[in-house]
Amino acid sequence: MPVALIIGASRGIGREYVRQLLARGWDVHATVRDDAALSALRAIGAKALKVDVTRAESLAGIGWELDGVALDLAVYVAGVYGPQHQGPMSPPSQADFDTVMHANVLGAMSALPLVAPMVEAAGGRLVFISSGMGSIAETDSGYGWLYRVSKAALNMAVKSAASSYPKATLLAMCPGWVRTDMGGEGAPLAVEESVAGMLKVIEAAGLEDSGSFHDYSGRTVPW
Ligand code: NDP
Repeated sequence: MPVALIIGASRGIGREYVRQLLARGWDVHATVRDDAALSALRAIGAKALKVDVTRAESLAGIGWELDGVALDLAVYVAGVYGPQHQGPMSPPSQADFDTVMHANVLGAMSALPLVAPMVEAAGGRLVFISSGMGSIAETDSGYGWLYRVSKAALNMAVKSAASSYPKATLLAMCPGWVRTDMGGEGAPLAVEESVAGMLKVIEAAGLEDSGSFHDYSGRTVPW
């Protein structure tokens, strides 16, 4: 039975990864931050553990809980958007900067060396949910300034780590604009469609694709 780890699975895209992988018969480990989400995931058959990606000792719990487990797939989904209307006309506050960069960048950079060896053990895929808003090449506005900066930094973290883990396929992935708490009700994509698309792209990806950036439809997103 293939084994997956989903980091940030309480709701939205992360929870849908858990749901679809369980439906395919995978053994799914999933992290959440609170007891209600822990119970909800256990009720549907996931092996849930509590992790706050902004707390180093909490992230380290992944290593203890999954000691010796080889992961066919690990997905770092946890992320925050930050201030809704913040743009280049005003710099982010120190508090907003810390919150967004910690969850989106430092959390991912801390999880990576913890999880990548487990993924290498299975010759699997290690995916970081980024955003098209982190593409420097496709940026034509300052809307969501801090979030864009964080996802561009995440992209560099993934790309620059790929050569250090030659037996794992490291991918940055944009889920599209998805109807979740973050994406809002006006987003065009249902979460089911986004995750099904990403899983198709992930399944098709091999070691030669490590260090690349794709969206849920398989399009290569320019850095
Ligand atoms: P949601 O806001 O619905 O969910 C965010 C998830 O991240 C929740 O599970 C949340 O847990 C978790 N999370 C946030 N901070 C932490 C933390 N410190 N530790 C652990 N978990 C944390 O967002 P989406 O599902 O829409 O987004 C998921 C990912 O996809 C994000 O990285 C986002 O940037 C990215 N993305 C989303 C798009 C969209 O249109 N929706 C577009 C492009 C990218 P909790 O419930 O405990 O807060």
